Amino acid sequence: METPRVPVISFWRAEFSDHATEHAYRNEVQDQMARQLVLALGIWAALLLLFALPDLQALGSSNPLFWRQLLYRAAMAALLLGAIVVVRRHPAWATDGRLVAWIAMLGYPFYFAMFHVREDVRIWTVGIVMFMQFSLFIFLPGRVLAYLPVALLGVAGSVVSFALLGRPPGVLLGLVFLLSVPALVGYTAAARLQRVQRQEFALRQRLTATNAALQTEIAQRTELQAELERQATTDPLTGLVNRREFSRRFALDLARARRDEAPLSVALIDLDHFKRVNDECGHAAGDEVLRTVARLCGACFRSIDTVGRLGGEEFAVLLPGADLPQAALVAQRLADRLAATPVVHGGHTIVLSMTVGVAQRLPEEHALEPLLHRADQALYAGKQAGRARTMLALPDGSHQAFGDREVAPRLDRHAL
Ligand code: GH3
Ligand code: MG
Ligand code: MG
Repeated sequence: METPRVPVISFWRAEFSDHATEHAYRNEVQDQMARQLVLALGIWAALLLLFALPDLQALGSSNPLFWRQLLYRAAMAALLLGAIVVVRRHPAWATDGRLVAWIAMLGYPFYFAMFHVREDVRIWTVGIVMFMQFSLFIFLPGRVLAYLPVALLGVAGSVVSFALLGRPPGVLLGLVFLLSVPALVGYTAAARLQRVQRQEFALRQRLTATNAALQTEIAQRTELQAELERQATTDPLTGLVNRREFSRRFALDLARARRDEAPLSVALIDLDHFKRVNDECGHAAGDEVLRTVARLCGACFRSIDTVGRLGGEEFAVLLPGADLPQAALVAQRLADRLAATPVVHGGHTIVLSMTVGVAQRLPEEHALEPLLHRADQALYAGKQAGRARTMLALPDGSHQAFGDREVAPRLDRHAL
């Protein structure tokens, strides 16, 4: 059994290198990720609106700056709510990352502007940008790679703003450090999470594939076992059960017959002058005759009866529940069917007859052999008496013919 290979996860992107696997992964997690993202976007919108309160306290409602900020906050919150609607409708967008990246890019200029217009909260604004640099990776599920440009914009925009405010290079460098570190920590943590999730997915996929391969192997083995069992129990030429299986079924029928005190009979069938069929029409014609007998047996006996080919052109039938006259009747019915069913093969029309010996199990008989022996003796007596008849083995050891029709095989040599 082949073990499926482990897909490669790229180091920087923390995604499967193979597109098909990455697609399968995102497909599997998209609903869960969409739910997480909807929650995160909701919290983002709520925080934006909530911070209007400190704005109001600091600026007062008469300050147009407050209203401009509020307008921005409302617009951004509306955008976030719009994103929630989109993600709900298209959960695949949650795993893509670009939607969130664009919203964040749109959001950042507000803070860059704040550095200029709100000197009173400048240090707070730096703190908020730091928080955003970190939360972008940690709280917003998506793809680390898509968020990297946003983090870069966060650093670059803030540094440019401070440069425009005339801050010295030392401060700008400090700002780069302050804003890069949370982004780096966020990126590292989120990338590791992405990798772990994908490794787990790959393991699960591998397990599923291994399971499927195992199931297939089990099915193949079961099939093979069934086939071997069939081969061990059936005769390949006729499909009837072989002697071994016949004995096994006899043991089952015997147990049932003893428990229910029900009769159990056996009919032993031997084709008459079968050698002639082989000699005059060929072995293949003989085989065809054997198959025909098997088919007729299938049509004449009940499903609970067991028809077996004991060897050569000798067949035996187990008839549970049938007493001697009943068994003889069914056996004769088969003999009549055979006599009425000429076998046509290779230009020959072969009319056949059979001799049958029938015996009913005696209370003291607990094995197949003595019963078969008595049926065989009846069969022999039938052959002696002129063939083409059903001979009953009576309990006292004598035999009695059920019928006495003699039909020697008639081999017509003209093609049909
Ligand atoms: P009888 O009426 O006394 O039974 O005469 P018979 O010719 O049928 O004699 P017997 O039962 O002894 O013949 C058995 C023949 O069956 C011998 C053999 O050539 C043939 N035979 C045995 N197995 C097969 C088989 O698988 N295929 C074919 N075509 N013939 C077989
Ligand atoms: Mg024979
Ligand atoms: Mg024979």
